[in-house]
Amino acid sequence: MSRFWSDTVRNILPYVPGEQPQDKKYIKLNTNENPYPPSPKVIEAIRKEIGSDLRLYPDPEASLLKEALAGFYRVKPGEVFVGNGSDEILAFCFPAFFNPGDVITFPDITYSFYPVYAELFGIRYETTALNSDFTVDLGSFPEHADGILLANPNAPTGIAVGLNEIEVLLQRNSNKLVIVDEAYVDFGAESAVPLVKDYDNLLIVQTFSKSRALAGLRIGFAIGNRDLIEALDRVKNSFNSYTLDRVAIRAATEAVNDKEYFAEITGRIIKTREETAKRLVSLGFNVLPSRTNFLFVSHDRLSGMELYSMLKNDGILVRHFNRKGIENYLRITIGTEEEMEALVERLSCYVKSV
Ligand code: PMP
Repeated sequence: MSRFWSDTVRNILPYVPGEQPQDKKYIKLNTNENPYPPSPKVIEAIRKEIGSDLRLYPDPEASLLKEALAGFYRVKPGEVFVGNGSDEILAFCFPAFFNPGDVITFPDITYSFYPVYAELFGIRYETTALNSDFTVDLGSFPEHADGILLANPNAPTGIAVGLNEIEVLLQRNSNKLVIVDEAYVDFGAESAVPLVKDYDNLLIVQTFSKSRALAGLRIGFAIGNRDLIEALDRVKNSFNSYTLDRVAIRAATEAVNDKEYFAEITGRIIKTREETAKRLVSLGFNVLPSRTNFLFVSHDRLSGMELYSMLKNDGILVRHFNRKGIENYLRITIGTEEEMEALVERLSCYVKSV
């Protein structure tokens, strides 16, 4: 602490990301990264981009990437915003769409970065309880809120709501901005992108970190009507003109264009998830229905903390949240088939020993 700290910095509780151990080699199932490498075409594009042009600033508009995304999602380039990871875009949403005194609302169990952004930007927030089966109660958001932030599928539960339900939410809350964080949507959930043309209160945020295997490059995007995108542009251009570097723009464009590779790796992860879920159920685990690249699981005879520690000891990292209501759950990222085999083998040993 220094006497020069602002009140905001003094009072804020920053988000704590999952462990990224640099020492020991773990089977890393704790931060929802993709177990497969980026598309070979992406690696090739990165190689080509590394050269003397790196002395030049990148295109501040990242037009190449916006056009590729617009083509993929059948929207206009002016309806697309890109940023340095979806975390950056979610952060920009707070000053772009809310005033001090406004209230933003989200479920109490969701991505734990949301309250941190609210604190940082001085926007009030109110949370609503999940149903007892961990589904989101879409009717529970307070009437007086100015905006709703919904992770769909939700994290860390992995549970998704359908497109019809999102549409009803948009209609019932036509005077509120609804931001849908679709970080995990490509693993079997329904995207709300097709609703953008009909609802001016919908903004969708997605990432290249999960389904496109590019967490290390930091790329995210948002889709919404032009006026919402302009608000994000205004914030970005008042903060940093060049949030995406040359390598990231080129690589992300190739990732969007390689549709086959994208379908192949997301399909593989979904298959491994379903197989792993079945095996964990047969070991007595309670496994929530996941539409993501992770499983949220608990066991009656072993606490979340015990399971986390035993796995870490055995070289497998998973995520445990020390939070009331989910303290007995583990969030396990879907890895390769071999990695999940090792996980199930360890877990079956622990279960048999109690
Ligand atoms: N939203 C959710 C729900 C997430 O779990 C994550 C990953 N931690 C993000 C957004 C941010 O992803 P990124 O910044 O890597 O795009």
